[in-house]
Amino acid sequence: APSVILSDIVHHYGPHRAVDGVSLSVAPREILCVVGPSGCGKSTLLRLVSGLETVQHGRISVGGKVLASPERSLPPERRPVGMMFQDFALFPHMTVAGNIAFGQTDRPRAERERRVAELLELMALTRYADAHPHTLSGGQQQRVALARAMARDPQVLLLDEPFSALDEQLRRSVRDEVVRLIRASGIATIVVTHDPEEAMEIGNRVAVMEAGRLVQTDTPLALYRQP
Ligand code: ADP
Ligand code: ADP
Repeated sequence: APSVILSDIVHHYGPHRAVDGVSLSVAPREILCVVGPSGCGKSTLLRLVSGLETVQHGRISVGGKVLASPERSLPPERRPVGMMFQDFALFPHMTVAGNIAFGQTDRPRAERERRVAELLELMALTRYADAHPHTLSGGQQQRVALARAMARDPQVLLLDEPFSALDEQLRRSVRDEVVRLIRASGIATIVVTHDPEEAMEIGNRVAVMEAGRLVQTDTPLALYRQP
């Protein structure tokens, strides 16, 4: 499976450089956590990979296929990228199955339903297929969001502050479960968090971002050993 590679990415909002020359790569079976204070550019970085913002300099590619450069930008729905948001962003009027099926309309119905059923089972949500999201617990909603992000078999998963909407008590168990499911999938994953402790616990590598730049990327152990 291919790695996702970002080379010298720049994005500004007007004169403000939100992302200022970021290079990184994430391999399959790897979780890279991006940490840094609010406003340092973490969300913008994810939005550049998902295609919600355009790259003004540099290049994003997956397995040699260019997703984004100043000359060329695949629309979000054509990128092999799944995204999970902080507030889950589930569609309240759709069932759990409907949420997971969303974005697969280009697939034949039978294939789509097979994939939905598979993900329902993987996430232990089969009995909630016809329920609406607001009737589920926070942890269950999180799994629906993860299933939806995985439904199109992406080569990259992006998680933006995935656990911050959960209360302290739920957070650890949900996080362990979500990380287990992601590791089992083997999909190259980028997780953005403002919580360094969380990054150290779930990342294979941690990238520290400051004012639009990556100032250090290392394994949790190497970072932990620093004074
Ligand atoms: P983080 O996710 O680390 O909090 P963001 O990527 O959201 O950081 O924001 C990076 C910088 O870009 C911040 O200074 C923020 O105010 C600015 N910014 C983010 N989105 C926009 C936007 N749509 N228009 C203008 N400035 C923005
Ligand atoms: P709606 O949200 O329009 O009421 P559903 O939520 O019932 O529709 O279904 C949305 C999609 O999910 C459809 O493609 C349907 O075929 C599929 N789907 C619904 N229930 C299941 C299920 N239990 N297993 C697999 N696929 C399902």
